[in-house]
Amino acid sequence: SATAETRRFEAEVAQVLHLVTHSLYSHKEIFLRELISNASDALDKLRFDALASPGLLAGDADLHIDLSWDPDAGTLTLTDNGIGMSREEVIENIGTIARSGTRKFLDALSGDARSDSRLIGQFGVGFYSAFIVADKVTLTTRRAGAPDDQGVRWESAGTGEYAVQTLPVPQRGTQIVLHLKEEEKAFLDGWKLRDLIARYSDHIAFPIRMPASKDGKPDGAPEAVNQASALWMRPKAELSDADYQGFYTSLGHDFNAPLAWTHNRVEGNQSYTLLLYLPERQPYDAMLGGRDERKGLKLYVRRVFIMDAGEQLLPGWLRFVRGVIDSDDLPLNVSRELLQDNRLVSQIRAACVKRVLDLIEKLAKDEPAKFAQFTREFGNVLKEGIVEDAASRDRIAKLLRFASTRSEGADKSVSLEDYVGRMQADQDVIWYVTADSYAAAKGSPQIEALKARGVEVLLMFERIDEWMVGYLPEFGGKKLRHVAKGEFGQAGGADAEERKQLEEQSAGLVERLRQLLGEQVHAVRVSHRLTDSPACLVLDEHDMALHMQRLLREAGH
Ligand code: ADP
Ligand code: MG
Repeated sequence: SATAETRRFEAEVAQVLHLVTHSLYSHKEIFLRELISNASDALDKLRFDALASPGLLAGDADLHIDLSWDPDAGTLTLTDNGIGMSREEVIENIGTIARSGTRKFLDALSGDARSDSRLIGQFGVGFYSAFIVADKVTLTTRRAGAPDDQGVRWESAGTGEYAVQTLPVPQRGTQIVLHLKEEEKAFLDGWKLRDLIARYSDHIAFPIRMPASKDGKPDGAPEAVNQASALWMRPKAELSDADYQGFYTSLGHDFNAPLAWTHNRVEGNQSYTLLLYLPERQPYDAMLGGRDERKGLKLYVRRVFIMDAGEQLLPGWLRFVRGVIDSDDLPLNVSRELLQDNRLVSQIRAACVKRVLDLIEKLAKDEPAKFAQFTREFGNVLKEGIVEDAASRDRIAKLLRFASTRSEGADKSVSLEDYVGRMQADQDVIWYVTADSYAAAKGSPQIEALKARGVEVLLMFERIDEWMVGYLPEFGGKKLRHVAKGEFGQAGGADAEERKQLEEQSAGLVERLRQLLGEQVHAVRVSHRLTDSPACLVLDEHDMALHMQRLLREAGH
């Protein structure tokens, strides 16, 4: 087998490459943070593997990332002494996109550079961002623990193909040389590079080292230019909003600023630190319902990155939460299996739920604009918690917001507490209606009589609502009741004599309708609940709501 060969990119890689290089020209500098974040991941992996095999560190335990530039050659060079890659890994990780997310990425690209650049990190096409500024990329790597002669060089101009060869490489880790395009030579500037690191990569937990700059050229030994400390271990009092925001961005997966965060050190029968963020926007993976491979909550044990552990440390209905948990007490060799069934882990998980609910409650109380933003983005995900998390149900229910016959437009601003607080003296249930849209809910004939009597009705029109309210039979001692279900109790209004008369007058019409509709209906009755509409469909107390029946029919049941 030849040690040097030329291979074609997978068709999808070529397409991603094309899109990345053409859609991100207004955010060119993101290539640096993508490559630094890969180097940092590679260092994390090495440190983790070295827990079991200390030999991997082989006399070079000082983990770092080096960045340098060469104005004459027109190159930028980024080096890490991390885990490195074998030849198979290079082909697998760089030549193919083994992720099903790729297609979704391609579909999701909007052509708007700002939002597209946000997608890059989330879909793991980060490496290819090198081609935004480079017309040739040379990657040289050796897997930690592999013999010197098992180094690999990968080279590509980012068009259709790449070359890969096996060659001796004296040290483990990965070096990436970017041959900058003529018009991108401005990046060959020590000050500019430092500035980019300060902006995007200051909170990378490993030192990023650069030589000083003299007459535009690198000069002297490399020195760390970032903070390189675990931000979450620093006392709150020392940290500014900008620190927290910067750290959030360095976690990856989101280019927006966070909406809010909570940072706590817990000391007790076990000790840990948690730093949890609410994003401002729905992260893309959560939007895809990506429950299987949740990223964004990193588990550390005594400052060593162990794994992304969102699934183990947060319930599904909090899958949008991002951040870091650092435990003092979990074993360093903790596995996914161990995390599934561990007392310490379930305590941490419960604490995460509590802290996030505290945080959201605080927004609801003190920061209405942020809370409204939160409700818009995550209100529906939160509703899953009503179904899944009986223990938190009451707290979550208080955080839900709905449109109602009293609120303005489709905006969801009415809490169940608001509703109960203004219920009429003789009213004993919380009325709601479900429909496919705000307009359909608001215009529903089923709510006319209640509206006419000034009784507020919650308007629910999200797909999840029907399912959710099934798990929320009551709030604050008041039952929730669908307007289409059963009778209205004392809702009648018209006096009994008048009703009787009305029913007698209508007997002929009712009989005709019964014959016309036949088997399709259970019964035809004179109603006192309508004011403007001539007729409406109602359900028996225990029937499934109409809206739900339609959904099931659509789903083929
Ligand atoms: P992601 O980082 O989201 O996985 P990237 O496109 O940034 O996606 O990188 C693709 C893969 O290439 C990484 O998952 C990793 O396996 C490999 N890789 C990239 N850079 C390095 C590096 N410096 N050291 C080791 N492996 C790397
Ligand atoms: Mg990456």
